[in-house]
Amino acid sequence: RAKEQGRGSICCFDPQMDAAPRDRRSLEGDLRSAIRRGDIELVYQPVMSTQTGLITSVEALARWLHPEKGPISPHIFIPLAEESGLIVQLGETLLRQACSDAASWSSSVRVAVNLSPLQFQAGDLCATVAGILKETGLEANRLQLEVTEGLVIRDVERTFSELERLRALGIQILMDDFGVGYSSLSYFQRFPFDKVKIDKSFVDQITTSRAARAIVQAIVGLGDTLGMGVVAEGVETEDQMRLLVEAGCTHLQGYLFSPPVRKSVLQESFLLPLGAKPHDAGDVDRNG
Ligand code: C2E
Ligand code: MG
Ligand code: MG
Ligand code: MG
Repeated sequence: RAKEQGRGSICCFDPQMDAAPRDRRSLEGDLRSAIRRGDIELVYQPVMSTQTGLITSVEALARWLHPEKGPISPHIFIPLAEESGLIVQLGETLLRQACSDAASWSSSVRVAVNLSPLQFQAGDLCATVAGILKETGLEANRLQLEVTEGLVIRDVERTFSELERLRALGIQILMDDFGVGYSSLSYFQRFPFDKVKIDKSFVDQITTSRAARAIVQAIVGLGDTLGMGVVAEGVETEDQMRLLVEAGCTHLQGYLFSPPVRKSVLQESFLLPLGAKPHDAGDVDRNG
């Protein structure tokens, strides 16, 4: 803009103007080193069955504690990793970590790992996943992969055939954050998702909005007909829980039961076999 105003118009130069891109580049550099050093960690959030009240799976969620800036949200660093191409390596590292953690748990709960659409574009995802399962010793039926509708915007055929191959290994495929963005009901015609996760925005509004209740009800109906489990994410209150159970959701996940926790807490507070005594469970709710 300074250029347009001609030479000498430096009076209008705003040092803040390119601060954002510079910050971004430096954060990208920090992310690159954090990935290299293995500083991006996973926490795990339990998902409960509404039938049994037991934990059936845990979702792996990435965490980055920046040495100066403190915790950076995955809403910031996952898109940054996607824009810079780092997501492929990061995604693979996190998948390996999650599978290796799950293989060590004293319980057969499944582990759900979020995949970026870009991981479907690069290399042979199915071979990578199969290799990681073999390497870590995790049974394929204990792995769930969460994909979002953004997945299908690029190469539809390739993406669905990759999903078929993953599913053929015995891995469950979940549709995440369903109902927002560019979700299309036709995805369910193209691919037999094992579960669909209702986006938190509907859960947030379920106590106040008839429309939100109707949408949840419709997704549950679809799930019933297609043999798909229906997970509600971001459940925070008893009232939400009651309405979601009434609507027929098969699984619930949210702060009401547990926030994402470190793997040591997960193992000691949630995954102990019946009868075993936690040595340091404190006041943690063992029933989740
Ligand atoms: P998501 O996959 O939909 O994950 C659920 C998000 O909701 C998580 O946010 C979780 O901490 C949060 N959450 C769960 N229960 C509650 C609740 O009761 N109340 C509220 N307010 N929030 C709740 P998080 O960990 O910040 O992750 C945000 C998003 O970043 C994820 O949304 C996912 O899209 C992405 N993400 C996180 N980890 C990974 C990863 O390892 N790989 C990829 N590709 N994406 C990831
Ligand atoms: Mg998810
Ligand atoms: Mg989700
Ligand atoms: Mg979400």
